[in-house]
Amino acid sequence: MNLTNNFSSAVSRRKFLMGASSLGALCAASRFSPLPALAQALTGDPRIAPQPIADKGFASIRKIGNGLYATISDRSKGLQTRSNGGFMIGRDAALMVEGFQTVIGSQFQLDTLRSVSQVTIGGALNTHWHFDHTLGNSVYGAQGIPIWAHADAAARMAAYYPKWQSQTLAAYLAPWQKRVDDAKTDSQREHAKSDIEGLTGMFVPVSQTVLALPNHPLDPAKMPMEIDLGGLTVVIETFIGHTDTDLIFRIPEQNVVYTGDLLTGGQYPVNINGYPSLWRATLAKFATFDKETLFVPGHGQVMGLAGVAEMRSCFDDLAEHAEKSYKAGVPVEDAIEQYVVPDKFKNYRMFSWGFTIGRTYQQLYGEWSAKPVPVLNYS
Ligand SMILES: [Zn+2]
Repeated sequence: MNLTNNFSSAVSRRKFLMGASSLGALCAASRFSPLPALAQALTGDPRIAPQPIADKGFASIRKIGNGLYATISDRSKGLQTRSNGGFMIGRDAALMVEGFQTVIGSQFQLDTLRSVSQVTIGGALNTHWHFDHTLGNSVYGAQGIPIWAHADAAARMAAYYPKWQSQTLAAYLAPWQKRVDDAKTDSQREHAKSDIEGLTGMFVPVSQTVLALPNHPLDPAKMPMEIDLGGLTVVIETFIGHTDTDLIFRIPEQNVVYTGDLLTGGQYPVNINGYPSLWRATLAKFATFDKETLFVPGHGQVMGLAGVAEMRSCFDDLAEHAEKSYKAGVPVEDAIEQYVVPDKFKNYRMFSWGFTIGRTYQQLYGEWSAKPVPVLNYS
């Protein structure tokens, strides 16, 4: 089918253009090599097993604490999971994190959990509503495992995904293609093309999926929420940032946190539905967590506070450049084109130019100026 072909060629093109990245990618040749599941500084951490208990290439699963496991994706080997995840096993029950991009990904996580424990699975948690964290949910639904998420997550999915399923990719992309055709400069054209790649990478897996929406809504007003799994207490908290439905799962006794996309490594902050200033405030809060904290980010390697600092410095870089341009009176459209990726982040992946740099600049300009600034949105 056409869609599938478009998808694989979009995927391989994106892989070719952007590759894996960051801390693990110490030389250019490593762009296609596997992403180590851990930040280098953590290789000696006694909580983390040096070997995974399961490894499918596209993701590996390893123990990172007492009853705690992290599923770490490696997009250089496939997008079956695409996001990270994991599971938490107590004496009486277990919880899983994320529904991933495909049923293959969520089945892999479920099978791996079952290889270590037969305990009741109380729920599968979606950190937020995005496709790469939820499209594999139906595997859990078929097993009678409730899908937990922020109370607004199901509505957000329902507002976008069924509509896409009624459209062709070409019709969906038409207005975005017009931006490419109307571009005034080469850089504007290349950036507009990158937005098409990012949007295609969302639209196609959504169009191929039987959706399963979260059926166990968690009320943000009732957070932090403590869940006792039997000898293992998980605290669910909500923060606004990457979306308005972001949840994190903390295991305070072991200083482990599953953050979803509020924290990512090796990529520019994906701001397709985000709130950059609130997001930065959330990251500032993460920076105050215990210095031994292990973070399982939404994408990238398991990291410590150094990973939080790195993501903050990327946001700082964006905000500093935006502010300089704003104060110099540079119109936002031009400022977005003038941003230069610094050496420090040159191996970072970018979902697309418009949904990392562009939208972030527009929102910051909007906060600083009295008049409204149009913001890049998809629907
Ligand atoms: Zn996301």
